[in-house]
Amino acid sequence: MTKASLLLIYTGGTIGMKEDPEMKALTPFDFDQIRDEVPEIRKFSVDTDTYTFSPLIDSSDVEPSMWQELARVISNNYDRYDGFIVLHGTDTMAYSASALSFMLDGLSKPVIFTGSQLPIGVPRTDGKENLISSVEIAAAKDSEGHALVPEVSICFGSKLLRGNRSTKVDSEMFGAFQSPNLPPLAEAGISIRYNKGLIIKPSCWDAPLRVNSALDTSVSILKVHPGITPHTVSNILLGSNTRAVIIETYGAGNAPTAGWFLDCVRQADRAGKVLVNVTQCLRGTVDMNLYATGKALQEAGVVNGYDSTTEAALAKLFVLLGSLGDNEEVKCMMDRSLKGEISK
Ligand code: ASP
Repeated sequence: MTKASLLLIYTGGTIGMKEDPEMKALTPFDFDQIRDEVPEIRKFSVDTDTYTFSPLIDSSDVEPSMWQELARVISNNYDRYDGFIVLHGTDTMAYSASALSFMLDGLSKPVIFTGSQLPIGVPRTDGKENLISSVEIAAAKDSEGHALVPEVSICFGSKLLRGNRSTKVDSEMFGAFQSPNLPPLAEAGISIRYNKGLIIKPSCWDAPLRVNSALDTSVSILKVHPGITPHTVSNILLGSNTRAVIIETYGAGNAPTAGWFLDCVRQADRAGKVLVNVTQCLRGTVDMNLYATGKALQEAGVVNGYDSTTEAALAKLFVLLGSLGDNEEVKCMMDRSLKGEISK
């Protein structure tokens, strides 16, 4: 079998930092020297090239234009590499991985996001292990030479998670990510164990990659909470520049049944907005038939977000609104699993 070739795309974040002895502060290091920082990469039978974003960013500054740039870099280099590893800050990694999963159609190669809680240049870093596991998984192929994980995923804390199922759950510990509604696609122990039944394969391995690069960001998020005011709800639901609103509800998809709240939802629905019900719970799904409070939302026109993360719902809406002019069509597509983001 030929050597796998991987493109490491460095966007910024903690992983690429090391202490500058003069400045006595963490600064990004020259990523072309990654093989010196992580010599273990040389032990794999892989060729790696690097692509560095300019400027490097803390991922709190990620904008959809960066996802477009990322999709462009992957698409322009698609035929030259067997897999892509995106080094990214952890804060918005789940958003970016979700976005790329919907932007890249017909993917037959791995796109693995990784990062770290501690910079790669400090002794106890988790960055090396995350990067090394990412390299091994990105290069892994089956006996026919096809990628073992041709999905957009997140490799972190010894687990490979589907990108659009992941969420950052910890700001301190090394296991910063979980995919609460889907078991890991792979787990790295003594060897890497793949959960082959879960991994999505392309319908055609040779099909060209298609990029959905048009994104429409006119989406808002309404998190319901006790004490929420009519003013807040109407500002978010009826905002003139908003085509869609993700309503983060309680439990199985429940929201206040106060007349003013439901009136506002009905008004937004009549205005043609796409309203999506996603639960605030970390685990579990929305079922609007369970309680009267959920049923009322369904009757008011709210569509089910099932067990979607908010990150995935947001990214899915950006992509669907970007490519479809008709909000009714967007609602239909929200009801389908496009890239394994919901259990349906
Ligand atoms: N603030 C950083 C970022 O998301 C944190 C990290 O990289 O882990 O870019």
